[in-house]
Amino acid sequence: MSATVILPELTLIGEEFRRDVAVRVKSDGTIESVGLRTSADLGDELKRRALLPGFVNAHSHAFQRGLRARAQRFDTGSGNFWTWRDTMYELADSLDASEFYETCKQCFQEMLRAGITTVGEFHYLHHAGLTCDDWAFDAPLLSAARDSGIRLVLIQTYYATGNFGQELADAQKRFSGVSREQFLKQFDRLTRELHPATQTAAIACHSVRAAPIDDMVFFRDFSIANRLPFHIHIEEARKEIDDCRAAHGMNPLALLLDRLKIDDSFTAIHCTHSTADDLREYLSRGGRICLCPLTEGNLSDGFPDVPTIRECGGQLCFGTDSNIRISANEELRWMEFAQRLRRERRGVIADTSGSSAAKLHEIGTRSGARALGLRGGGIAPGNPADLIAIDLDHLSMRGATDDAILDSLIFGCGNGPIDHVWVAGNLLVKP
Ligand SMILES: [Zn+2]
Repeated sequence: MSATVILPELTLIGEEFRRDVAVRVKSDGTIESVGLRTSADLGDELKRRALLPGFVNAHSHAFQRGLRARAQRFDTGSGNFWTWRDTMYELADSLDASEFYETCKQCFQEMLRAGITTVGEFHYLHHAGLTCDDWAFDAPLLSAARDSGIRLVLIQTYYATGNFGQELADAQKRFSGVSREQFLKQFDRLTRELHPATQTAAIACHSVRAAPIDDMVFFRDFSIANRLPFHIHIEEARKEIDDCRAAHGMNPLALLLDRLKIDDSFTAIHCTHSTADDLREYLSRGGRICLCPLTEGNLSDGFPDVPTIRECGGQLCFGTDSNIRISANEELRWMEFAQRLRRERRGVIADTSGSSAAKLHEIGTRSGARALGLRGGGIAPGNPADLIAIDLDHLSMRGATDDAILDSLIFGCGNGPIDHVWVAGNLLVKP
């Protein structure tokens, strides 16, 4: 017998909403079956609700939620990515482990309210003390996720240099990977502390400016040998490209293509200023790209070359990154809106039937799950029961016919209509 049976009015199966479906969930938190409801199905009747897979947030720094009310004043006239980074360093330096835990937990709770059931946490703020080898912020991150109930992929991040060939600045010492050996020792310790039902791990190097190339090769090889996803920030700001050219004689993405194995377990975050040639080569090897539209907008990064990514059939996913605003559908619509503004045309991101919302929804669910090494992102047997229900009578959903629910949710709503959220079959948000 199923542990839970969910009986929504509409259920998204594949790309279509169906009526009178029962979603049966096993006690291990996975979906047992999805099919027409029968008289034997006694469970949670969800009237005027549509059931969808939860959103997958492939790139977050939860502690940066603490910056939301800061860094929006420009006393000297203007700011940029680098001036924002100084404020972020001040925040990182001010937190103790319990404040870090509280900020992360609150951020994860806010994600759940936004229908995000999985977060890939790109975790580089490791240490609390002056010795910078205490790893005091690692276990609290796992606890914060576990206590919120969100599914976590811990993307344990290596950070070793202040810029190309430079020692860490004082403000960066809390990020230190210490050494390859110490980093892997800590990674091994953490993997044994993961919650078995809702937590897994991946590896990252922070960026080409924050890790020597030999270390990046080392950790990429480690990720392949252990079948772990590998993530890295790349080409978000032009200065990184200039500095990389000075240090290595080539652009950051070209450097990765030259030295690292790229396949579908590799996710590059941002690629804001990547050249079309580098993008084509990267995508032809199966690499994925994570865009973070609200953060990229907030930080004045620029516009990624999405038309080239789409022409190559490249796999996109999204991240809430700095968590300036936590809304999956808003991230997704701005992935498209930024391109409409830049290219002066609509439908830059659309599926083969011409639906922007369906393609963006796939980017926000299945594609994000793949980037984190997870199955799921759809309502199907064997997938985790990470689900959301939306209120079809919510003011912002009024007028949406069955075939326009995704259009309405992605382009017309905030988080308001999302009023039920399950992770691993546990109902964490309800009206
Ligand atoms: Zn980031």
